[in-house]
Order: sequence, then structure tokens, then C-alpha cells
Amino acid sequence: MTVQQSEVEAGAKQRAGGWLRIDLDALKQNYALLQQKVGREIAVGAAVKADAYGLGVARVAPALYRAGCRRFFVATVDEGLGLRPLLSADAAICVLNGPPRGSEALLLASGLTPVLNSLDQTRRWAALCRETGRKAACLLQLDSGMSRFGLSEGDLDTLCAEDLPDALDIAFVMSHLACADDATSSRNEGQRRAFETLRRKLPALPASLAASSGIFLGEEFHFSLVRPGYALYGGNPTPALPNPMHPVVTMLGGLVQDRWIAPETAVGYSARFVATQKTRIATLSVGYADGFHRRAGGLTSAVLPARPEISLPVVGRISMDCMALDVTALGDMDLPPGTGFELIGPHRPLDELASALDTIGYELLTSLGKRFHREYIESSQ
Ligand SMILES: *Cc1c(COP(=O)(O)O)cnc(C)c1O
Repeated sequence: MTVQQSEVEAGAKQRAGGWLRIDLDALKQNYALLQQKVGREIAVGAAVKADAYGLGVARVAPALYRAGCRRFFVATVDEGLGLRPLLSADAAICVLNGPPRGSEALLLASGLTPVLNSLDQTRRWAALCRETGRKAACLLQLDSGMSRFGLSEGDLDTLCAEDLPDALDIAFVMSHLACADDATSSRNEGQRRAFETLRRKLPALPASLAASSGIFLGEEFHFSLVRPGYALYGGNPTPALPNPMHPVVTMLGGLVQDRWIAPETAVGYSARFVATQKTRIATLSVGYADGFHRRAGGLTSAVLPARPEISLPVVGRISMDCMALDVTALGDMDLPPGTGFELIGPHRPLDELASALDTIGYELLTSLGKRFHREYIESSQ
């Protein structure tokens, strides 16, 4: 008996062990919300590095383009090369880590915009512009106190002494905040001032400082362009306050089987969970290989989307390909194999899971595995 490829594909959703639902409508709403927050005169770019934080840049970036975004940030040249054919030419794709040596001509020919972070990167790009007679756009990054990327004050002086700004078409000068997620940190204002001071060494140019959290620090952090990533994907840019963003990602784990176990029966590797009473255990087909961190066992819970008020603890060790839920609270409710339990989503916020695991939602999103059946929701294009 042969099986048609179309049949294999048609059943993929049902067969999957877990499902990721990515709500592009919510993504676009989040973009609109941030645009509204900064006002119409200020451009809202989007960080889509690392495959749009694990959500799938091929679907996310075009949806953001439809929402009005015209400036995209990736980390590496190859991420930029992958994204370029998916967006029209009026969308700028900026390579945050800058051009590795020898890749300058490729960037230029491919229509990618480098972020120039060091004297070395800046000199090489200026040399290419002079050689080709093309002042191709770039962004210039200044180090306002994070000591990661960007030119120092001394570098800027050298740059000016070498007349490099004349050779360059600098679309924006930019910098990045180290502590924007903590609105009470005095480092934010310190970095803003340092950025202003550094900027004055150059001709007046449009500027950019804020990522997701920086947008919520106040107007004086907005400059001409903001560069959110996490908030677009539903993460909370204001960790001390309720999340103003709409959830974008829902992760569901599919039920494989369930059983009642007697008191003193163990569950999972190393018998980390031992039932103290008669307990109903459900095995879901999602594990650490899917990006559901191993240490989450005992620290978090799932829900049935139809019964969100009933919390179902994740018990025992997370295995590579499965995990156990204590579903005793559902009693004898009929649970057909394939039933989806929400692990991340509107009822199980990403940021709450992240803080239970002593990490950040960024890390959870960028760890999402390849085995999920992914479904993108977009009501209108
Ligand atoms: C990743 C990144 C962003 C986006 O950060 P979020 O916190 O996800 O909004 C913006 N700017 C730079 C330089 C980045 O590296």
C-alpha cells in the first residue's frame, strides 16, 4: 500500500505532538499599539533576528510589513540574505552585528544595511563606498554604556579626524539600553545623556535608542526610530506592570495517554514526583527537545483551554519528548488522545513561565523546537 504525499501532509496537524499557534493579527495589533504609543512622526522598526525570536521570520516579517513596518533588524548577514527576497525593496534590512570582514560587497550588492559598530567596520564600509562611488546607507552604533557594540568617544574622534562621516550615508545613529526593563534604573537616563553627548560629535542625524522596554521609558527615549522585538511577539516590555501587549504565541501539548495511579507511585525519570493520593496523570507529547525547559517540571502548570480556571501542575522531570501533568482536578472527564493542553498562551503567559524558570521569555521563544505543528492566524492581509 502506498501513501500519497498529500495524505501525509493533510494528517500532519492531527499527528503532531504539540502545536504552536502564532497569531499574526495580534502581532499586527501589537505593532499598531507601539506605533500609537510613540506617535506617527516616529518610525517603528522591528527586530526579527533569530527567526523572529523563534516564531518564523518568513511569516512574521511580511505580516509586519503589512502593518506598516519598513525597517527590520537581523543579527547576521545570512539572516538578512534570507529575509531580503521576502520583503519589497522599500523595506530596509539592517544587520545589527555589522559586516564581517570581506562581506561588505555582498551586503551592498544584496541591498542590506549594515550597522557599523566599530572603527574597523566603519572604515571598511567607507572604503567600499569610496571605491564604488556609492554612498550606501548604513547605521552607526555608539556605545552609550553597555560595552557591547558601538563606537566609543575616542573612536568617534578618530572617525571624524579621518573624515569618514563624509564618505557615509548614515541613516540613523543608534545605541542600545542595558537596563530598559527596569524603569527605576538611573542607568537609563545615564545612557540617554551619554548618547546625546556622543551624537553631538557628528552632524545632526536621525537617532534611535529604544527597543521594546525603552519605548515605555518616556518620549525622550524615542528619538526618530524605535526598534521593538519582544513586545511585538507579546512579551511584557514593562515587567513591573501588567502586560500591555496582546499574546501572540500559544503552545499546546497533545495528550498521548492518561492513567490513574495509586498513592506512593512515582512519575518520570529519577522518580522526582511521587503521588501522595490517587492521582490522574496525563502524558503530553512535548519535552525539552521541543524547547520546554527540563527544569520546568514541578514549577509550572498547564490548562485545558476550555477550562482555564483549573490549573494542572506539570509533575516530575520533563523528558526529551514528553512530560506529565497532574490532571486529578479534572476528575473523570473524558480526555481523548490528542487533546491539547495549553502550556504557553493567553491563560499561561509567556512571562510567567519565564519567571517561574528564572529566565526570560526571550530565551523560551528562541528555544522553541522544530517539531511543533505551526499554525499562523491572519484574518486579513
Ligand atoms: C534585539 C535588539 C532589539 C530588540 O530588543 P527587544 O528587547 O526584543 O525589543 C533592538 N535593538 C537592538 C540593538 C537589539 O539587539
